[in-house]
Parts: sequence; structure tokens; C-alpha cells
Amino acid sequence: MTNRQVFRFAPSPNGELHLGHALSACLNRRMADRSGGVMLLRMEDIDQARCTPAFERQIAEDLQWLGIGWDSPVRRQSEHFDAYRSALCRLDDMGLVYPASMSRREIREHVEAVEARGGHWPRDPDGQPHYPGLERDASKAERDVLTQSGRPYTLRLDMAQAVASAGGNLAWNELGSGPDGARVVLQADPASWGDVILARSDTPTSYHLSVVMDDAEQEITDVVRGQDLFHATAVHRLLQRLLDLPEPRYQHHALLLGPDGKKLSKTHRDRSIRAMREAGLSPRDVLDAMEDAPRSGGVETASVHLQE
Ligand code: GLU
Repeated sequence: MTNRQVFRFAPSPNGELHLGHALSACLNRRMADRSGGVMLLRMEDIDQARCTPAFERQIAEDLQWLGIGWDSPVRRQSEHFDAYRSALCRLDDMGLVYPASMSRREIREHVEAVEARGGHWPRDPDGQPHYPGLERDASKAERDVLTQSGRPYTLRLDMAQAVASAGGNLAWNELGSGPDGARVVLQADPASWGDVILARSDTPTSYHLSVVMDDAEQEITDVVRGQDLFHATAVHRLLQRLLDLPEPRYQHHALLLGPDGKKLSKTHRDRSIRAMREAGLSPRDVLDAMEDAPRSGGVETASVHLQE
């Protein structure tokens, strides 16, 4: 065992890298270098319909062109479906997983009906309504009917049971949220997400499940990623506890914004590394544009209880 710090950059090869990705990669590389550690690359390609080898090659080329190197081996999620499947089975054996059939439209209609009657319906930190969970207590026979019907379904975490099984005091170490960028311990509130998706009928994993498995498998000590994933950390800590996985430290950095004030995404075509390179910019120009780009403010941590 060494005390070497292990960082990772984990893009999804379903589009081109943009300046926001470059920021994440640079921060990870810099922190790895400063600590004498390593930075691993992970291709988050569980969505096989949208991820392609061509995008994967382009990501590697863009990083090389920017001068951002990584340490080997590269991990490709699509090569580890068996590991995710066995983690899912473990959670299922604990009685924490149920097959769920409602589509987005059915969820929306259900929630609208409740709200039309004056009822309150909880939303997750991304603003999406919690899953109604009507199938949570279905019998084995009822579950079999759904999973053998040929209709698409999701496998969801029974959040209330999962939180109860995990026991109390679920927290994480976050760098940069305290005064002067100090490390603080934040209380995790996974219940704010409701019954999250762990897998789908056609994919034996989800973002949440694979990210905790991969971080453990790659022995990541420090997760440095965008603020948009800040609240997801609560779900990750819960899964780590349930699956006996080690707990990394976290740092969620500001997001780069486009001229429209929205977080950079694929829709900001001219902010992709490829487009900037093709427009004749040098790697230095692109890194300067990254430093100068407008950024989101700090994560709203007021609602996250700071532990003593
Ligand atoms: N694949 C995710 C993304 O491209 C990053 C996931 C993570 O860093 O946990 O936004």
C-alpha cells in the first residue's frame, strides 16, 4: 500500500470535448502532478447507443493536443458490465432493488394528478419529481410479470430501505467548500433523490452504480469533477456504504458557461476543442480561453448540513 493520490478524468464518448471538459482534465492533471500522484482516464460509455469508438479516439487526440497526459490503464465501462451486474445482484439480495415500469410521461401524469388535488410532490436536486414507487411492494410473481413482459423497465433503489440499511452518519469530505477553500465534512442526503435508477432492462448499470464501482476498482482517492455532480455524491456515498467500497475525497469545481449563461454542453459547438483547433487556435489559446471563460458561482451548500 502506498499513499499515492489517484485522480481520474471520466468523459462520456458521446460527443466532443468542450472547454468545460478541458478544465476538469486540467485540474485533475495538475492536482495529480502536485501530489506526485497519477491521473487515470475512464471512458464512461455505458450508453452504447450514443457512445462511439470515434468519439473515444477524438477525446484522446484532443487531450494529447492540449498536452494533458494520463496514466494507464484506461478503463472502459462497457468492458465491465459483469462487475456492475454482480453489484446490482448484491443490492438485490439485500432487498433494496425493484423493477419499475412507469415511463417519464406516466410519472409526470401521476405527479400532476397529485398536485392538481393540492398535494405536494418531492423533487430531486435536479428538479425532477421523485419516482412514485408504486411497484415497490409488488410480489415476486408481479415482478416476474413485468420483467418477462418484453416491455422496457428500470431497476430502482428502494431509497428508504437503502438509507435504513446503510445506518446513520453518511457524510463526505469536500475540498474547497469551507472558508478559504478548506476541506469540510458534508452531510449526505441521498433520500433527496428518491428511488434512483440502478439499471435498465437493456443495460445492467446506471451512472450512479458504475461510477462507484469504477472509483473503487481504479482505487481513486480524489474525485475532482464539475459542480453539476455535487448532489449526486450523496447517492454515491450511500452505494459505497452498502457495497463496502472505500470512500474517496471529493472536490466539485465551478462549471464553465457559454455566452448564453448556460453550462457548456454539446450545443455550444464553437466551444468544442475540435472546433477551436480547426479555427486555427493553438493549444495555448484554447487553455487561455478556458481560463477566461465565465464560471458558475459556488455550489449552494447552505441546505447541506455541515458536520461539527
Ligand atoms: N461522465 C461524467 C461526465 O462526463 C463525469 C462523471 C464523474 O466525474 O463522476 O460528466
